[in-house]
Amino acid sequence: MTSSSDDGNYQGKDDRVQSLRQLAKWRATARVLTEALPYILRYDQKTVVVKYGGNAMGEEGVAEHFAQDVVLMRQTGIDPVVVHGGGPQIGAMLKRLEIKSSFVDGLRVTDQAAIDVVEMVLTGTINKQLVSAINNAGGRAVGVSGKDGQLIIAKKLLRTKKNPETGKTETVDLGFVGEPDKVNTEVLQTIVRADMIAVIAPIGIGRGGETYNINADTVAGAVAGALQADRMLLLTDVPGVMDRNGNLIEQLTTTEARALIAEGTISGGMIPKVETCVDAVERGVRAAVILDGRIPHVLLIELFTEHGAGTMITNG
Ligand code: ADP
Ligand code: MG
Repeated sequence: MTSSSDDGNYQGKDDRVQSLRQLAKWRATARVLTEALPYILRYDQKTVVVKYGGNAMGEEGVAEHFAQDVVLMRQTGIDPVVVHGGGPQIGAMLKRLEIKSSFVDGLRVTDQAAIDVVEMVLTGTINKQLVSAINNAGGRAVGVSGKDGQLIIAKKLLRTKKNPETGKTETVDLGFVGEPDKVNTEVLQTIVRADMIAVIAPIGIGRGGETYNINADTVAGAVAGALQADRMLLLTDVPGVMDRNGNLIEQLTTTEARALIAEGTISGGMIPKVETCVDAVERGVRAAVILDGRIPHVLLIELFTEHGAGTMITNG
């Protein structure tokens, strides 16, 4: 039988073990923070453009992690600018409204009926969801589309495609699909100066006042180029660019990336993504990275640890 004083000793031991464990945990937190310090210093006052793909948004809890990461970035001194997509959500709404649409090389053919839905879903639903998620995580986000402050003046995107039967190159009419012609960064600079986080819906305004649906990766690239961003991070639903055998390619030069598109290893939605990265780094963005947005806190892993994730595209 144990005496009551023994019990007291055991209790004291338990308490000591508890507090040692707690101390070890706090020490680990301190270590994590100090390990991140060189990275925090490196990105201080730097602009990082983050594109959050429509596909990556669907996963449970992922939007919350994403929002926390963006707020953390902001609080460590980075100027994050967020661009979002919305492909699956647009697809679902078009289906609900029984509006048909198709894809050419990862770009949605968009007629008048479709562009109304595209604008509604992107600027109305998704943009505000993301703004709310960031605000709930403690940040101060402001949503804009390319129409606000004339952020993105767009022109019709002209695409050509080789007809497999005749072998002739033909233009494909994608309807109201545009590409950025001019980016006016004033509105973004105003938001950054006010210590807020800009969240951009990928809609452009034509010189004739028409509305254009722009691929969100393309918008991220144009914005990153115009802001001379330090980094552009594109979050998607795959680990990165995969080679012919389905293995992740960790590093790509612009020359290699172009070759992979030409040979067909890169297809669909990955085409505008990689083209955007190539374009952005050629226009002065230091590096562009395609990341798996399904990994919780992938932004923190990429920015604040030695461990790079996904595919990095650099000049060469
Ligand atoms: P997001 O919403 O992130 O823009 P997309 O569907 O537009 O997503 O583009 C990503 C998709 O590109 C992947 O889910 C994949 O199906 C496709 N893809 C085509 N070629 C490749 C490749 N070589 N490596 C990785 N993904 C590829
Ligand atoms: Mg896409």
